[in-house]
Amino acid sequence: MTSSGWRMPLLALVFSGGIGVCTPLQAAEMTPPRGEGLPSVAHLEFIYDDRFAEAERRKLQAWMTEVVGALRVLVGPLPMDVRFRFARYEGAGPVPWANTLRGRRQGVRFYVDPTQPVEAFRKDWTAPHELSHLVLPFLGREHAWFSEGFASFMQYRVMRVMGVLDDEAMAARYSERLETAAAAYSQPNRRFVEAVPQLRAEGLYPTIYWGGASYFLEMEERLKRQGVSLLGVLSDYLACCRRNEDELEDLVAKLDALAGSTTLSQGLNGFRRVVGFPPHRHLQALAPR
Ligand SMILES: [Zn+2]
Repeated sequence: MTSSGWRMPLLALVFSGGIGVCTPLQAAEMTPPRGEGLPSVAHLEFIYDDRFAEAERRKLQAWMTEVVGALRVLVGPLPMDVRFRFARYEGAGPVPWANTLRGRRQGVRFYVDPTQPVEAFRKDWTAPHELSHLVLPFLGREHAWFSEGFASFMQYRVMRVMGVLDDEAMAARYSERLETAAAAYSQPNRRFVEAVPQLRAEGLYPTIYWGGASYFLEMEERLKRQGVSLLGVLSDYLACCRRNEDELEDLVAKLDALAGSTTLSQGLNGFRRVVGFPPHRHLQALAPR
């Protein structure tokens, strides 16, 4: 295995990729660091675990830089350095696999086909999804619906900033994903949150992800009615409070405090009581523009 890395400042441009599978749970084996002492401006570190040509490295770095930049537009800078690891995986789309890294250095590991064109990477949701995970701490396997729901909620927002999706296409993606997930839901008489282990056992990962995303879409709309931006709350959270050791309840309490209400915790309590796939057809985010 070769590892060569270099660092570049977070200021940037464009690029993304394929069928993404997110497996953030691998990171649970690693010891989370304490939050203090983190730099206020993120640097990006690139590590290549296979042989990549210089032009391929430039393409991957530009792609990451664009995605990180789009995330920054939405919620501000990540308050820590971010490590990207790349391994080659050809013949299955631009990004057949990725997972977050949650050790002392947080980041994302990507398996990529660097022979794919830049536009194939830019149109893929995997990197917007994985990078969005880093906005929140790792919350544990039992709360995967929350973490995956959040990253799924964010991914199309990021792609909207990148210019890959316009408003109409973004709304259509949300609608399609939620409808597909709802149709696959196999536990209509059980609470969604309690059904997650069974959904996982059945391999219904998109149903877990998009059921969870409906919580964030709903919370965004409730806060908006109060004149509060969920993305603004997340930006404040990153600036003041992002810590790797946060538990779910602590995190939601912090977000509520920043929002000046109890909307998110009350919404979470209500969401935990939802039987069947969470309601979503009323959401404005799904409405055609
Ligand atoms: Zn994920």
